[in-house]
Amino acid sequence: MFESLTQRLTRTLDSIRGQGRLTEDQINTAARELRMALLEADVALPVIKSFIDKLKARALGAEITQSLTPGQAFLRVVQHELTEALGGTSEPLNLRAQPPVVILMAGLQGSGKTTTTAKLARRLKEDDKKSVVVVSCDVYRPAAIEQLRIVATGVGVDVFPSAVGQDPIQIAKDALAYARKQFADVLIVDTAGRTTVDQEMMAEIAALHAAVQPTETLFVVDSMTGQDAANTAKAFADVLPLTGVVLTKVDGDSRGGAALSVRTVTGRPIKFLGVGEKTDKLEVFHPDRIANRIIG
Ligand code: GDP
Repeated sequence: MFESLTQRLTRTLDSIRGQGRLTEDQINTAARELRMALLEADVALPVIKSFIDKLKARALGAEITQSLTPGQAFLRVVQHELTEALGGTSEPLNLRAQPPVVILMAGLQGSGKTTTTAKLARRLKEDDKKSVVVVSCDVYRPAAIEQLRIVATGVGVDVFPSAVGQDPIQIAKDALAYARKQFADVLIVDTAGRTTVDQEMMAEIAALHAAVQPTETLFVVDSMTGQDAANTAKAFADVLPLTGVVLTKVDGDSRGGAALSVRTVTGRPIKFLGVGEKTDKLEVFHPDRIANRIIG
């Protein structure tokens, strides 16, 4: 078990009886512990560096009141800055556009796109009382199309049929025409992923984006991929105007470091967390909660 940041700071800083304000020495000592804690949480290295540089400037001169030890004073600054770096507050889906509102799902194979499509469909149907159509544009893997059909049928939403060998762009266009005809509120477009970033996949998702002009383009990323999550996020953010991120598999033993990496690299809000395989395991992202989880 890793030592949490709180434990680290208690050990290194609380023996120093600080008075007045945090000193540069204290901050440097604390920053070393913070760096270790962020590394253990699997935050990408460049992200750690930029976060700590900013934080040092903020922490300098932070007041140590009588009730706070230097370690606690530093931790309070970290908590605040981490929450801000993670977006500050929750950001809901934008559903205010002319219906059908199109949501495009992007991400690598295995990141949890199809599962998240069904989770979102369920949430929109049950909580927001929206009528939802889903479609799979993964014409490379029959199992993917079948998986979406099964999970989406399970949550009781409409599935626009598609098949291997069809043109993914045409499928998406036809699904949009169908959703319009049905007066559906939302169309969720699930797309094909690859195991690694590849040009063909990127070109296809960009073409899909142009064809359906989504209101929301969500990047789905596996939180367990740690450092890689940042690189993947950058590759997708470079070709797509992402509007949000869904971080999946947060129920694993991940310390949540991918949240800080992905948010920093894309500059886009994390909107949801996947916290299990079942379709009800989708939570709204709260920056302060993940900040606390990273701090430990
Ligand atoms: P896709 O290839 O991006 O469509 O990914 P899938 O939706 O097929 O998900 C890949 C695997 O991850 C499946 O076994 C899912 O059950 C699992 N999965 C997806 N989201 C979560 C999650 O939030 N938690 C856990 N534990 N498993 C998840």
